[in-house]
Amino acid sequence: MAIKHVYAPFTPTQVKNLNDFQRSGYFHPFTCPDCSASLTAMEMGWRCLGCGEYTQDWAHKMMADGSALAAYRKLQSYGWDPAAAPAAPESADE
Ligand SMILES: [Zn+2]
Repeated sequence: MAIKHVYAPFTPTQVKNLNDFQRSGYFHPFTCPDCSASLTAMEMGWRCLGCGEYTQDWAHKMMADGSALAAYRKLQSYGWDPAAAPAAPESADE
């Protein structure tokens, strides 16, 4: 499956979806490679508020369009218990 990316500048809707994703606790958030803080989405792109240095200009499309969170919530509505599911292996970002 091809993983699609979106690039900054992000739209206000994308910013909201990206930060909802980061805060959801459902998925491993994007983090700063320097200080490990979770990244914060802004229209200009991702920024690390931990060290104030790191920026990133892309996100996965499924994060930006809200589809990842929507799919997760749908699974939960069917009674899926994420705590009982094995952790997904972390895939390397390109
Ligand atoms: Zn940082």
